[in-house]
Amino acid sequence: MAPPMSASSFIKALKDEGLTVVEVGDWRHHNRNHIGDWGPLNGVMIHHTATSGSASTVRVCRDGHANLPGPLCHGVITKDGRVHLVGYGRANHAGLGDDDVLRAVIAEKALPHDNEANTDGNSRFYGFECENLGNGDDPWPAAQLEAIERAAAAICRHHGWTERSVIGHLEWQPGKVDPKGFTMASMRGRIRDRLK
Ligand SMILES: [Zn+2]
Repeated sequence: MAPPMSASSFIKALKDEGLTVVEVGDWRHHNRNHIGDWGPLNGVMIHHTATSGSASTVRVCRDGHANLPGPLCHGVITKDGRVHLVGYGRANHAGLGDDDVLRAVIAEKALPHDNEANTDGNSRFYGFECENLGNGDDPWPAAQLEAIERAAAAICRHHGWTERSVIGHLEWQPGKVDPKGFTMASMRGRIRDRLK
């Protein structure tokens, strides 16, 4: 459990991890903090967008849509491996998830199966949306997977967390399938190796 890093610390951590970062509009102050809590932070959540086209993907993640106002994450990781910062603070990405999973993330232990949606995740997780159709066929370019690894590692490094603080949306909320096309176990392995 940790207080959220400042927006300046956030972007610095990403750049220090070797990422190419794109600042979108007034991302530092675009958030949902007027709706609920932001922090304490316990982990990092990875998503796929179920969209294609980088420009439109970044736009929807910043603006949201009629039923779900933006921002829909903090960083959008496009297929070219760039991280587009669209918001900072509470964002509509994690929704309600399983309190048993949150306890496991906090303890950095193996995750139980998510079978409850009883806990606000938007206050607890940094969120990265990754450009992919999420149909199992749309490829995940090496540059994009490496950017996911670096972004998650950057945050873990800042907070002193291990790879076990990084989860997929599908491990948090019953019914979610994202990210689809790689396993979170494989991604956690990469993050663990990067943090050594
Ligand atoms: Zn998701």
